[in-house]
Amino acid sequence: MYRTHYSSQINEELNGKRVKVAGWVYEIKDLGGIKFLWIKDREGIVQITAPKKKVAPELFAIIPKLKAEDVVAVEGIVSFTPKAKLGFEILPERIEVLSRARTPLPLDPAGKVKAELDTRLDNRFIDLRKPEIMAIFKIRSGVFRAVREFFHREGFIEIHTPKIIATATEGGTELFPMKYFEKDAFLAQSPQLYKQIMMASGLDRVYEIAPIFRAEEHNTTRHLNEAWSIDAEMAFIENEEEVMGLLEKLVAYTIRYVRENNGKELEILSFELEEPKLPFRRISYTKALEILADLGKEIPWGEDIDTEGEKMLGGYIKENYDEDLYFLYQYPSEAKPFYIMKYDKKPEISRSFDLEYRGVEITSGGQREHRHDILVEQIREKGLNPESFEFYLKAFRYGMPPHGGFGLGAERLIKQMLNLGNIREVILFPRDRKRLTP
Ligand code: ATP
Ligand code: MG
Repeated sequence: MYRTHYSSQINEELNGKRVKVAGWVYEIKDLGGIKFLWIKDREGIVQITAPKKKVAPELFAIIPKLKAEDVVAVEGIVSFTPKAKLGFEILPERIEVLSRARTPLPLDPAGKVKAELDTRLDNRFIDLRKPEIMAIFKIRSGVFRAVREFFHREGFIEIHTPKIIATATEGGTELFPMKYFEKDAFLAQSPQLYKQIMMASGLDRVYEIAPIFRAEEHNTTRHLNEAWSIDAEMAFIENEEEVMGLLEKLVAYTIRYVRENNGKELEILSFELEEPKLPFRRISYTKALEILADLGKEIPWGEDIDTEGEKMLGGYIKENYDEDLYFLYQYPSEAKPFYIMKYDKKPEISRSFDLEYRGVEITSGGQREHRHDILVEQIREKGLNPESFEFYLKAFRYGMPPHGGFGLGAERLIKQMLNLGNIREVILFPRDRKRLTP
């Protein structure tokens, strides 16, 4: 075992005790009679102090030969002293070089030399050695943990559905085709149809956390070709409001979890994460168009609210109510997929919603159409062939309860939560129009 403690775990109780620390060389300082070595690990930095009189000559000789980013393991005695910048130092008894870093480095891990995003992503392992980059991924881990914890508490069962599929999920969105032996197949753009089929199984409340694949041609700061989706579906609902209620609780829970468990990371990012008030504001699509018209942007009823419109709405809500999260709901039926339920008395409006975070969509959801014949009709209305949805429609013939759910984009959520400019910042190895490696 090369490491007994992370840098952050060394406290005054360890004063005078022997510990092992390990990590990457951060800095070296040679003052002749005394040499310093700073090592960084996942949690921070430790200082190794080697006064000539107190350490073995061969140790004393190793330190100046080390270079930044070499991997070393040090065993030594902890000494708490006000002289040390961090409050303590380690007097080495053993220094082992585990791996050498070649020079020049492809990227400056201290972040002093600014690098292009592409260079950073090409060298992601070094990029993560910067505390502010690592902080994002520790927060990401916290988000997934919070989501699982929340669903578990709410009585949801985790499911896993296929990512190689035969039929286009919703029509419309571009799919990645692939060869599946003698057949044509696609990578799944969403677990939509499968999680709905599960509503006919009696599992009642399910969630899935898995990648979705979308052959979006455009290169934007909010689209990936491989993204992680947090999907939920629940049965026996009376209306879409019940789904919105669950989603807002999930998002508020996740934000609170990050505030409580990732305080150190938020501090590294110098980011004040605000806890949202529940319930989130609900703005109907029609009302949103009115607000936009007042702001000088006319969108004909029935058309989607574009990126610019979303951003304007986000600004409006922030300015007038000081809120970052809000629902847009009751979208026109024609703008939504076939599986969304329409209002019986007003079929031009659907029981759908999007959740917006700082003017960007992070979730789409709604109540689904569970009545078989109406569903078939809606598939036809969208110009799709019900026959190719037979495996799905079958589940609606033998007892299908009313149900609804949502798909929450994990990267969108994290990007908007931390108010970052580019979705590529929150996924380790982004897949986009140009990136297939690393
Ligand atoms: P947009 O209109 O912003 O492209 P969408 O409406 O096509 O998104 P949905 O099909 O509603 O997306 O998917 C549900 C959620 O999945 C979205 O709200 C978003 O958070 C996430 N998502 C969808 N497509 C992508 C993508 N290409 N990259 C990252 N996240 C995505
Ligand atoms: Mg959507």
